[in-house]
Amino acid sequence: MQTNQDNDTYIADRALVKRWLDRVPVLETIDPEVEAEYKEKIKALLKERNAALVAHYYTDASLQALAEETGGFVADSLEMARFGANSKATTLVVAGVRFMGETAKILSPEKTVLMPTLEATCSLDIGCPPDEFAAFCKQYPDHEVVVYANTSVGVKAISDWVVTSAIAVDVVEHLIDQGRKVIWAPDKHLGRYIQRKLGNSEDIVLWDGACIVHEEFKTRALLEMKHLYPDAAVLAHPESPLSVLEIADVVGSTSQIIRAAVEREEKRFIVATDHGIFYKLQQQAPGKEFIMAPTSGEGATCRSCAQCPWMGMNTLQSLYESLRDGSNEVLVDPELGRQALKPLQRMLDFRAQR
Ligand code: SF4
Repeated sequence: MQTNQDNDTYIADRALVKRWLDRVPVLETIDPEVEAEYKEKIKALLKERNAALVAHYYTDASLQALAEETGGFVADSLEMARFGANSKATTLVVAGVRFMGETAKILSPEKTVLMPTLEATCSLDIGCPPDEFAAFCKQYPDHEVVVYANTSVGVKAISDWVVTSAIAVDVVEHLIDQGRKVIWAPDKHLGRYIQRKLGNSEDIVLWDGACIVHEEFKTRALLEMKHLYPDAAVLAHPESPLSVLEIADVVGSTSQIIRAAVEREEKRFIVATDHGIFYKLQQQAPGKEFIMAPTSGEGATCRSCAQCPWMGMNTLQSLYESLRDGSNEVLVDPELGRQALKPLQRMLDFRAQR
């Protein structure tokens, strides 16, 4: 397997991620009365601003519930952006991380896009700076550039395809079948999973990025948990290490994990993805039991087990303040946005033809 960085550079990137994490405040539990007050104020402001709240599956359950109660939407990153584009709202409030706000703006340049905080980013995004990625791509001029949605607008703009985890294998397979070679970025675990699925590591070059949450799921502890709950099926997101994916019963995107929990016969599931998804799992598959897959816990890169620290920066308070002040607006350079729309549109067209 080829990766872009030698070990020293990779360690430097980890230090960058650590620095970001040090800026993330530790969340405190909110008083139920204060929570109810925020919710009422947010509902009023959403109406006043003709705004729709769109939340990712990994955000706090209170935000997901509020999005649903107010006619907004809870989904994965692409469906969030598609909902926003089709919505009659003139303002979209995106509870998630930075690239999700940018994707919403790329698909809806005429709308105002606000976020509870612009500080919420993603280790995959910050681990793939556009200038370094452009230099990497230059080394492989005959390769098709396929990037994951978890990238900045600058990276999307220099790519041929933007894909989600739900469709990544299909798109890369399609390109390989056409005799093309592929650069895959930024998640190396998902990249290795694609290589393994297609039985081809020769023609798929990987960028060396990782999600700090999914990377922490641990194989040995998961095997022990499977032993403890032999009736449980393991549902894993493909950003997890390959050794975890090899023992999973289902490997899929957030939407595919939820669908599997609903459709499969098992009554108990061990879930290897961000804890925020439990809100939707319990809502869509009531009566079934969901257990968090083990992480390395204390001392892990992530601040708390299986919870994205950046997703956790979206709170009722920060959402309220953004709506009240019209602050944290996501701005995307129009030309860059137009460039980034092309690889996104290519993926949407590809999906529509399936
Ligand atoms: S869970 Fe991982 S991939 Fe998702 S936003 Fe957080 S760091 Fe990024």
